[in-house]
Formats: sequence, C-alpha cells, structure tokens
Amino acid sequence: MKKLIISNWKMNYGPIKAGAWIRAFRRERLPKDVDIAVAVPFVSLPAARASLGRASIPALSAQDCFWAEEGAYTGEISASMLHEFGTEMCLVGHSERRAFCGETDDMIAKKAGSLQAHNIVPVICVGDTAVQRKKGEHMKVVKAQVAAAIAMLKADTKIPFVIAYEPVWAIGSGKPCVPQDARDMHVAIRGVLAKKFGATTSEKIRIIYGGSVDTRNILEYMTTMGIDGALVGGASLDPRNFGLLCRAAVPA
Ligand code: PEP
Repeated sequence: MKKLIISNWKMNYGPIKAGAWIRAFRRERLPKDVDIAVAVPFVSLPAARASLGRASIPALSAQDCFWAEEGAYTGEISASMLHEFGTEMCLVGHSERRAFCGETDDMIAKKAGSLQAHNIVPVICVGDTAVQRKKGEHMKVVKAQVAAAIAMLKADTKIPFVIAYEPVWAIGSGKPCVPQDARDMHVAIRGVLAKKFGATTSEKIRIIYGGSVDTRNILEYMTTMGIDGALVGGASLDPRNFGLLCRAAVPA
C-alpha cells in the first residue's frame, strides 16, 4: 500500500503565508512512491490552490467540516462546499477539536459520512489520553472511537477513508508513541475495520500514525508493519523541514 504523509498546519498560516508555504514546498525534491497532502485552514485553501497551479502535489485537505448539506448552521462549512472547491481530503475528529470544540463520536461519524458521500476522503483522527493509557483503557477507548466513526462509511467505494491514530499525549509533546506500541494499536484498529468490512478490505484501508513525528523518527514509523503513513503537525510548519521529512520517510 502506498504510504501517505499529511501536514497539519492547525490554526497557522492565513492566505499570504499559505501561498508562500506551497511555493517553497513545490521547490522540494519529493519521493515518488509516497502520497503527500497538506491540511490547510479554510480561508487559506484558495491561496494554497492558486500557488499549486497545475501541480497536484501536495493534495489539499481541509481540517474539519459540518455534516449537513446547507442551512442554518452559522459559521460552518459543509462537505458539499469543500467538494465544490475541489478539496480531496478532510480531517475529522482531531483531538484538539474533540477537546476544545466538544466534538463527539456521533458528530465525527456524521462528518465522515458526509465527506465520503461528497467524494472527499475523510481522515478520521482517534486517540487515547495519558490517563486512559495509564489505566490500561487505551485499546478499548480507541477501538470504540473507530467503531463509532465508521458507522456511516462504506469500504466498497472509490472514495476510501483513512484512520489517523494520534495518542493525545504524543501530539505536540515531543514524546512520540514507541513505534511498536503504535503498531499494536494499528493492529487493533484494523481488527475493528475487519469486523465491519471483512479482513481483505480492511487491509486496503490506510491507518497512519500522528504525534511528534519528525525528520529523525519518520523512517521508523514508515517501516513498521501496519503503519501506512504519518500525520505531522509541528515538524511540517516549515516547508523545507517537511520536504526533508518526506525524503527521510523512504529508505535511502
Ligand atoms: C497533529 O497536529 O495532528 C500532530 C500530530 O501534531 P505534532 O506532529 O506536532 O505532534
């Protein structure tokens, strides 16, 4: 399966800086056998697209959406609007949205379903807190998050979906999850997918890891069985560093 690396800018870079980031990243030498995407704030998507020109790398992703088609939902952006714009992917359920915006599993399931229905690849973020891991509840918690989030998804479609396992305690902390522990979680997540879609189909769904991935540790994740890519925050804010990270993701 082709690996996927996504840069998550979070709430960084308005249109001016977004355009500059894309132009700088376009100058980077990139590995051919890795899919690369960048998750951009809504208002910066047009500038990112303009700076991309005819180039298709990196693919553009949004960071969130709303599940309804249209109507009285002030401040929200629907999956159909993102489709009209031409966004290829969209993150949903990032732990920062779960924590700061009160997003629930049910909301995340509806967002993911709406995205897939509008031909946008949902990237569903799941993850355990430090307390849950300490109590030994992490597997149960993450498996439940995944089962809830995929409730409305299909696997027999041209629009796949991606699961991003991001332990909350590893995000932005400089304390990444040990690759073997991440692998164990990915195996558990694939088990949840297999239960709903069958083992063969579950093998085709990408499960990526996120949480303090950087230029030094990316290769270890990318070469660990069952880890199909990475979601990268801090280490992707500098376009040259993200280029370096993408190159470091494949064995020399
Ligand atoms: C993220 O924002 O999803 C993330 C993984 O951040 P960081 O790489 O900074 O830990």
